[in-house]
Amino acid sequence: MDINKVFATIHAGLPAKNTGKVADYIPELGKVDPDKFGVQATTVDGREYAFGEAKEPFSIQSIAKVFTLTMAYQRLNKELWKRVGVEPSGTPFNSLIQLEADQGIPRNPMINAGALVVCDVLLDYLKDPKAELLSFVRSLSSDKSINYNKAVAQSELDNASRNRALLEYMRSFGNIHNESDDILDFYCHLCALEMCCGQLSRSFLFLANQGIAPLSGERIVSSSMTKRLNAIMQLCGFYDEAGEFSFRVGLPGKSGVGGGIVALLPGDYCITVWSPPLNYKGNSHHGMAFLEQFTTEVGESIF
Ligand code: GLN
Repeated sequence: MDINKVFATIHAGLPAKNTGKVADYIPELGKVDPDKFGVQATTVDGREYAFGEAKEPFSIQSIAKVFTLTMAYQRLNKELWKRVGVEPSGTPFNSLIQLEADQGIPRNPMINAGALVVCDVLLDYLKDPKAELLSFVRSLSSDKSINYNKAVAQSELDNASRNRALLEYMRSFGNIHNESDDILDFYCHLCALEMCCGQLSRSFLFLANQGIAPLSGERIVSSSMTKRLNAIMQLCGFYDEAGEFSFRVGLPGKSGVGGGIVALLPGDYCITVWSPPLNYKGNSHHGMAFLEQFTTEVGESIF
């Protein structure tokens, strides 16, 4: 099958008018051109297929939660699940609602509350969390040019009231140990990582390859841990739209409010799509439509 042609055909078939809306609750994110579109698929055996602005870096936002989750899981192993659950939340990414009933233990590490606990864990283990996260991501994608966008990080820090509220509420249950300012600084930076579709699709390949990064041959996590990370993405990667994404696309994946979506077929490939306008659940509107068409055209999904 000619994947480049499949990409071009699906893109041409997307509705000309995108009904999604670019995220602007972090003012710096609202500046992005809504018409940007890029996609890249990278296979575990090293083939790459790209279309559109696949080399243009964008704000990966919550996609980065998978990197920090992997780092915390490497260090704590199953002890991590005492601090954060693995159940789908069925709530928006920044919701506070379940924390009261769940005694300060977030439902999963993909919602903000869970990702903030993961940051708190990493602050206990890493001397320089921002530098170590950057070097982890650079090594996963074999690309030293990846960096934080300082303006986005600052914009997010200036508008962090809700994330601060999540932290303080969880602290009241004993599930946050470090200073909120330090956790927020780390969290807002990880959300402000900038990567392009190519870099993202390469960096997630270890999850399609039983835990081994194909580019370096390095084992990142065990195959059992890989299974569990993919299960979390499948059930929680799209918040209260995880069912819809599974139903339409049929792959484990993760979205971010920068308009990126990463998805992967274990044993085969990782694909990243970028289109900034979001649907009302905070996931890329055209990104989901594109991936639905893609798995339909190639006739493969995990199901
Ligand atoms: N930085 C964003 C926030 O905490 C991440 C949200 C997302 O991408 N869903 O609000």
